[in-house]
Amino acid sequence: MEIQYLGTAAAEGWPALFCSCDICRRAREVGGKELRTRTQALIDEKLLIDFPPDTYTHALNYSLQLGKVQHLLVTHSHMDHFFPVELIHRHEHFGHHAKGMLHVYGNEAVEKAFYDAVLIDRFKVHPLDEAVRFVRLKPFADFTADGFHIIPVPADHDKRETCLIYIIEKDGTCLLYGHDTGMNLSEEAWDCIFSHTYNLVSLDATMGKKQIDGYHMGLPDDLTFIHLLEERGCVDSGTVKVINHFSHNGEMTHEQLEAFAKEHGMTAAYDGMKVLF
Ligand SMILES: [Zn+2]
Ligand SMILES: [Zn+2]
Ligand SMILES: [Zn+2]
Repeated sequence: MEIQYLGTAAAEGWPALFCSCDICRRAREVGGKELRTRTQALIDEKLLIDFPPDTYTHALNYSLQLGKVQHLLVTHSHMDHFFPVELIHRHEHFGHHAKGMLHVYGNEAVEKAFYDAVLIDRFKVHPLDEAVRFVRLKPFADFTADGFHIIPVPADHDKRETCLIYIIEKDGTCLLYGHDTGMNLSEEAWDCIFSHTYNLVSLDATMGKKQIDGYHMGLPDDLTFIHLLEERGCVDSGTVKVINHFSHNGEMTHEQLEAFAKEHGMTAAYDGMKVLF
């Protein structure tokens, strides 16, 4: 499998829209990998994970053919992961020759956000029935999409909805996509995670050098998470361990995150990064 990290920032972006903290000022000065758009990933050019407001920018920057993508996994309804109004542009009137149906998979909050965005009066002349279809997911109810076997696992994130992280398998290769989540997962969720062996794990590192009790992880949590997986034989030295979904509030530059990752056998994601695993 190949994963491309299209965006790697938390909700406010990096530099954050209205922020002039040291990290954001430095990001504007240095540019390059210190600039991050909101979190999104693409697997094998076929399976899109999340749909932030930066999706359009990602399509431009990486010459993506999003009209060919037929499966979009959404983790939760937060704006940095789901900006549904843009989906209207998959209608034939705007998106000529888009291939078949785009299936949008998500929880109840994502479903509501989807219909609230696309069923407004202005768009009623361009109904999406032939172009985009919503599919409601239930935790642990696995399904197959375009050859990918996908297991939605309930995250430790916003309690107002069933936020999901995903285990994705194809041809004997397995990936854990862990954004957004903290470490206070249910026993059932841990059991499900521990019942697989991974070629790549992608972990929430929003808090950087800081730590909070759940909702997001910091770097010490990432080390603990990896250690738990190692103890159970779910990962080994061949597993690619990625930290991703960064905030300026973690108070570390990309350079510092990269140094930390290298020291611990991990990879700090940056916008555009591709990993073959
Ligand atoms: Zn997020
Ligand atoms: Zn800032
Ligand atoms: Zn979130």
